[in-house]
Amino acid sequence: MMANDQGSRWTLSSRRWSTNTKLLLFIAPLLLLLLVAFTWLFLGQQRMKLLEHQTIATAEAILTQVRIDREYYASVLTPKLSSAPRRLNADYYHTPTAFPLPSTFLREATELMASAPTGYRIEQISPWPINKRNALKGSFQEEGFRTLTETGEALYSRRDVLNGAAVMRILALDKAVTQSCVSCHNAHPESPKHDFQLHDVMGGIEITIPIESSLKAARQDQLRFMGGAMGVGLLIIALVMVGTRQVILKPMRELTSQMRNLAQGKREVLEKPVLRRRTEKAMGEEFRQLWHGFWEMHLNTRTPQQDQPGDLAQQTGALQLLNKRLMELQRISQVMQQAISEEEVYRILTHSLQEGLPLKQILILRLNASEDRLEIVWTYPSREDLAVDSYPVWNQPSRCPVIRSGREYKVHDVSRDLTCASSLSNKEQGAYWCVPLVIGGRTIGVVHLVSSVTRCWTEDTCQWIEALINMAAPMIGHLQHLERAKRRALIDELTGAYNRRFLEEALAKLIVPDDRRKGQILSLLVIDLDRFKRVNDAYGHPVGDLVLKTVAATLHRTLKSSDVLARYGGEEFVVVLPGTETSNALVVAERLRVAIAGLTLRTLAPAAPAHITISVGVATYPTHALSIPELIRAADQALYQAKYSGRNRVVCTPGSLELAVGKRTEERDASS
Ligand code: GH3
Ligand code: MG
Ligand code: MG
Repeated sequence: MMANDQGSRWTLSSRRWSTNTKLLLFIAPLLLLLLVAFTWLFLGQQRMKLLEHQTIATAEAILTQVRIDREYYASVLTPKLSSAPRRLNADYYHTPTAFPLPSTFLREATELMASAPTGYRIEQISPWPINKRNALKGSFQEEGFRTLTETGEALYSRRDVLNGAAVMRILALDKAVTQSCVSCHNAHPESPKHDFQLHDVMGGIEITIPIESSLKAARQDQLRFMGGAMGVGLLIIALVMVGTRQVILKPMRELTSQMRNLAQGKREVLEKPVLRRRTEKAMGEEFRQLWHGFWEMHLNTRTPQQDQPGDLAQQTGALQLLNKRLMELQRISQVMQQAISEEEVYRILTHSLQEGLPLKQILILRLNASEDRLEIVWTYPSREDLAVDSYPVWNQPSRCPVIRSGREYKVHDVSRDLTCASSLSNKEQGAYWCVPLVIGGRTIGVVHLVSSVTRCWTEDTCQWIEALINMAAPMIGHLQHLERAKRRALIDELTGAYNRRFLEEALAKLIVPDDRRKGQILSLLVIDLDRFKRVNDAYGHPVGDLVLKTVAATLHRTLKSSDVLARYGGEEFVVVLPGTETSNALVVAERLRVAIAGLTLRTLAPAAPAHITISVGVATYPTHALSIPELIRAADQALYQAKYSGRNRVVCTPGSLELAVGKRTEERDASS
């Protein structure tokens, strides 16, 4: 039924009706109904009240006139007529000499008036049989007479229909105006009472005024007014419709069309579309704000839309790279998890770093267990110039800013940027980057990366490198922890030498039954401190401990790194000399004995023994024994012999070469 949003087609569906139509259908019936009700009820009632007022005023005027006439007749004419040879008579029209009573005069006058063309009727009524012809007739007169006598009001009026025509009936009380009225009524045999006084109510006067024509005129007025009001109503509706069409519909349609254009991207829209001047002027502030808001929204969404193809490709590329890297990280992580040593992790990390960016140098530095030393644990490629203690930072880790702060140190161009004073690569050309190795918020080391290319630390590269290092850090920490735990399990805490368990494991690895066929050889030294109990007894257990530690350190220092020193128990040590024959073993044993005997223990504590000596038993596999227990037993027997023969000496296992080197040396020392 209304135009759709293109304004060209009509539809029955109320959902598609325009705002105007909906507004019209909502307002128009309501407005018209209100107008009709107002004009009909309000105006009609006003008009009727006015008519009643007018009619009553007319009736009052007639009544006044009638009363004045009768008073004149009764007070002026009747006395004159009474003096004439005629008499008063109610039936005067039957008697030629009679003239009417004052009341009858009234009837005469009334009848005379009623015959006038105005159609007014005036009737004298009497409630008593004294004037039967004018007795009360109908409910109006009965009710009116009763009301007037009861309330004392001057008039009783009512609208009525007589002979099919609308009339207004007005009733007033008629009172005795002359003595003749009183006398006549008092004398009448059918009078209800005989003591009437002057001015008593004797009957009533009813005036009937036709109002048919006035009513018709009033109705016509009402209709005319209603027509006018409806006209005004329709005019208002039309104005509202035109107004809303200009202010709402048209701007709305233009805005909708512009919005659709922008949304559908029919054209490249970089500037706010210009609205028609009329639309611009006509539309309300809310629409302006709506249009402004839509434009802002369009601008916000336009940029990504316009850049979409390139952007999407870029995003896809970035996602693909991210995916590739995630897969790569997962693969590297799996490989690292299988590593059983720190070195293996460093090797994998180096390989992965090199794959991402060719690096000139990769150094991994790690704090030692007591965190007072920075140790180079990995160099790629290896560097000879980084000898122990060649850089002060090794012994003072806090001099390294990365260790100190836990933050990276990045130099994009060594020749231009500010470099770190303790860097290992300051003299190099290119760039370097120190990345902290962090585990659980604690910096445990630094990965020092050197590139010959300046400005190679791009965001992308750095992200990848950091991801790799962050992934490796916990593995390194884990393996380090394992290594330390393992060491703790195999190292004697007091002396730092291997413990008995390690010794047994090492011997088991070194000696397997078939090895003798392959020419495997090793010698075993069992070392026991001489009269050590006395040291404890004389100087106390702590001093005994210090002596034990010093002896172990001296033994360790005197041995080769391939030799194994283990504390066998109490003040007893065992040394395994792989690939060493008895003769060489005896030389080593003698060297050890001399070294211990040469120790000056007084420096350890204010009260300490001056010297300590050791006795050594030597046995060789497979010369003296073919199994580990046999070998230990053989060396032990040799030790026993050394003790037995005077201590501070080296004795080889019985049944073979036996040396009393110590004894001879002692003798030589004594003779000199
Ligand atoms: P010998 O020359 O015959 O070997 O005499 P010795 O006193 O060394 O031999 P003994 O077996 O009688 O005493 C060994 C002493 O070593 C007993 C013990 O008090 C001491 N000892 C063993 N282990 C420790 C240790 O860990 N610390 C200290 N302070 N003393 C230890
Ligand atoms: Mg002992
Ligand atoms: Mg001993």
